[in-house]
Amino acid sequence: LLCGEVISIHVGKGQKAETFNVHIQLLETRCPGLIRGIEVLGHASIRTMHLLHTSAKTFEVFLSWLYQSVIGFDDGLEDTEVIAELIELCVFADRYTITELIDDSIECLLDCVQSRDHWFAPTGMAKIYEKVRVGCKLRLFIVRCMVYHIIHPVPAGEAREWTSRDVANELMRSKDLCCDVLSTLMNDGGSSVEDPSLVPRCDYHSHALDEACPRAGDPEPSQTSE
Ligand SMILES: [Zn+2]
Repeated sequence: LLCGEVISIHVGKGQKAETFNVHIQLLETRCPGLIRGIEVLGHASIRTMHLLHTSAKTFEVFLSWLYQSVIGFDDGLEDTEVIAELIELCVFADRYTITELIDDSIECLLDCVQSRDHWFAPTGMAKIYEKVRVGCKLRLFIVRCMVYHIIHPVPAGEAREWTSRDVANELMRSKDLCCDVLSTLMNDGGSSVEDPSLVPRCDYHSHALDEACPRAGDPEPSQTSE
């Protein structure tokens, strides 16, 4: 049972804003970057803080992670909605440097992409790219998705097709994304880029590649082939 002080966190803007009471000690232990990054107002007994750029929906998923160590979604969400939520969760985790949650959200994202053979549409990738910091592994995943699709285009007419115009539109929206995609292509023609959802998971973990993986005991995800 948890006890101790709670902080009142106002999440979101306007009519969609909601308030959550969260245990301060838990925040300090699992995500000091969140509590440090925000101005805490008032006396110890009436602490509040505001997270304007986070949606209440994303924050609820964060709370399930914080209190129960699970990333849970409502039943009945479409795959694309789950993916969009996981991306928002990763953006949130990156914003407040919650490394464990960045890893967990990317891990779930890869599970989702892999188990359901679901591909992103390119639309919106540049926006996501710009929202997370340089070095965030979500950027690496996006670059590899882009490069993989450029080299292995889905046959024209299929629902999952990315047209060159789709790709160009995204690349033009983010100079960083464009540079990173081009440098991967110019480095080795992109031949080092495998199907981005099937490469070793450690590529996307925050630990260094020569470090032992803290998730090594986790069951290996089953792989699907096209
Ligand atoms: Zn790892």
